[in-house]
Amino acid sequence: MHEVSLMANTLDIALEHAQTQGAQKIHLLKMRVGALSGVVPEALEFAFDVCTQGTIAEGAKLEIDYLPVTCYCANCQLKFEPDDAIYECPVCHQISTDIRQGKELELASLEVS
Ligand SMILES: [Zn+2]
Repeated sequence: MHEVSLMANTLDIALEHAQTQGAQKIHLLKMRVGALSGVVPEALEFAFDVCTQGTIAEGAKLEIDYLPVTCYCANCQLKFEPDDAIYECPVCHQISTDIRQGKELELASLEVS
């Protein structure tokens, strides 16, 4: 599963952060996941349970901040959230290729002790 390797990478970063801070335990892990990242949040949660086993993040809570796609129309100087896969500006109906949000897949924050 795609999500398992992604989660393993994210968890590696988290564990490294925790280690630098001298933490004994990770309690909460927050991630930012964009709608275009191709990741299914439920699969990510499952992967989290699998990957954290035997680490200091075992039993930690995973919070996923799911970000919708946001495009920008240079004509109207407008940011908008497209309804479907065609990123059409709701005002001038021009197709936007300027994607400002939605590709994120990253660690947002950690709570450790
Ligand atoms: Zn427009």
